[in-house]
Amino acid sequence: MGRKPFIAGNWKMHKTVAEAVELAQGLRRSLAGITEMELAVCPTATALHAVSEALKGSNVGVGAQNMYWEEQGAFTGELSPLMVKDLCRYVIIGHSERRAYFGETDETVNRKIKAALAHGLSPIVCIGESLEQNRAGETVDFVGEQIRGAFADISAEDARKLTLAYEPIWAIGTGLTATPEEADRIIRTAIRDVLASLYGAATAEAIRMQYGGSVKPHNMAAFIVMPEIDGALVGGASLKVDSFTAIVRNALEALP
Ligand code: PEP
Repeated sequence: MGRKPFIAGNWKMHKTVAEAVELAQGLRRSLAGITEMELAVCPTATALHAVSEALKGSNVGVGAQNMYWEEQGAFTGELSPLMVKDLCRYVIIGHSERRAYFGETDETVNRKIKAALAHGLSPIVCIGESLEQNRAGETVDFVGEQIRGAFADISAEDARKLTLAYEPIWAIGTGLTATPEEADRIIRTAIRDVLASLYGAATAEAIRMQYGGSVKPHNMAAFIVMPEIDGALVGGASLKVDSFTAIVRNALEALP
């Protein structure tokens, strides 16, 4: 079976509960009836419950932006997999902002992935290189290492449950994007080929890959038509009903 396209919005640290519910209700209406593509939004923790209620029974899923790996305990400020699972199905793990500002490493990302899978959550795992690494020609090696770290001790059966988001850090929130051809090449050589070496070709081909980094309505189609790219993780343009809807609709139109 082919990989079902998947577009998710990362609302980052934006929106009060009321604002988040308003956005969710708008998306529920504007995206109603779309079944060819999996859709999700990831609000802040404070809005997770209300947004989950607002989207209950709709075709738009909900995810958390982060999660700790322990089920409970003295971990002030953290959310456990049990708490996340109570409210939603997806969880973003290892976003570059978490890696850069909150000390996340390939090892903590791996622990979080294992905890998410153990609790039946669907992780969206972010990887991607910095501008310096890109300029130094280190992208394939660096992203390949991130993949090996993220997937350490994860079975092939579990690996298939992950969605990967290739997000070049220099393209996030900057208005710059990788070219679709370059993103496709990196996903093939740094991600899917590494997964094939770990799990074999069939498993590698089954894992969905999103592109992330300044995806907007005008550039979505060019990414989704690339053979390796199955959707997008969208930051800034997911904060408005119109722009997120246009991204989804433009992707749908471009699909074969
Ligand atoms: C992101 O937050 O993962 C992201 C890709 O942000 P933006 O679309 O704003 O670049």
